[in-house]
Amino acid sequence: AKQAGRDALRFFDPRMQQAVQERLKLEDEIRHGLSHGEFVIHFQPQVGRDGALVGAEVLVRWEHPQRGLLAPIHFIGPAERAGLIQALDFVVLRQACEQLAAWAAQPPRSRLTLAVNLSAHLLYQADFVERLLDLLEQTGADPHLLKLELTESLLLDDMDEAILRMKMLKAHGIRFSIDDFGTGYSSMAYLQHLPLDQLKIDQSFVRQLVEDTSSQTIVRATCALATGLNLEVIAEGVETDAQRQLLELNGCGLFQGYLFGRPVPLAQFEQLQLALRA
Ligand code: C2E
Ligand code: CA
Ligand code: CA
Ligand code: CA
Repeated sequence: AKQAGRDALRFFDPRMQQAVQERLKLEDEIRHGLSHGEFVIHFQPQVGRDGALVGAEVLVRWEHPQRGLLAPIHFIGPAERAGLIQALDFVVLRQACEQLAAWAAQPPRSRLTLAVNLSAHLLYQADFVERLLDLLEQTGADPHLLKLELTESLLLDDMDEAILRMKMLKAHGIRFSIDDFGTGYSSMAYLQHLPLDQLKIDQSFVRQLVEDTSSQTIVRATCALATGLNLEVIAEGVETDAQRQLLELNGCGLFQGYLFGRPVPLAQFEQLQLALRA
């Protein structure tokens, strides 16, 4: 009885209780936010060698009624733990598809691509392929302009299933990029089997590029690999012109980072579209 009493005391540790309550509150807020349109998408430009805009990465933000605009670090983890990440990712996908359709319908009818981050939970959901194809049909978005960013670890969870689903989507024109390429500690054998279109060099390599020749070697090897496999390469986290030049010198043809623009809301991105038009 004494032992049970002590355990009970430990369980009712007020700090722990507070942490649990805060977590539950955040989960409720995410649920509420999902049903009240508080999650919005921002757009970060992606440009080619000539500096022309080719598309954007879609990054989710939470317009929290009390706490203001929140970055993903504040809610992606909690949404995953609460089993809400599939719903969140689908909300993002829907907004991206609606935007693609809106641009196609109005002058200058831009053909910009949108890259959307996909979590493992959504890719492996039983009806994901069907839901995404339905969404494309409902919105009228051109599947060729939609790119899905996947991480290596996500794909290795169940490679056969991932390949199957990717192939079904690819048959409709959807493209795939490996996000944070080179950080996954995984074998490269999977590159042969996956129907990929792009490798995205992680910003950790870009950050050290100017000082560190080994990062230059990794970038050069990644670009050679991509060329050999007939894949595009894009670098993320490009902040300086020195980085951009070294990337270009080592074979990279597409860039994303603060040098070209931070993630911004739609109105600002459309301004940028006018400024960066080829
Ligand atoms: P990520 O996919 O690697 O996205 C790139 C992150 O780097 C973004 O942070 C972006 O704002 C930031 N970034 C871009 N350019 C630069 C630069 O030049 N310098 C620096 N220092 N940072 C740069 P953000 O928006 O906070 O997103 C963080 C992560 O959250 C993303 O990493 C992605 O893994 C996740 N995420 C974002 N949106 C979604 C989503 O809709 N669904 C899911 N499942 N995850 C998302
Ligand atoms: Ca990404
Ligand atoms: Ca990334
Ligand atoms: Ca990254």
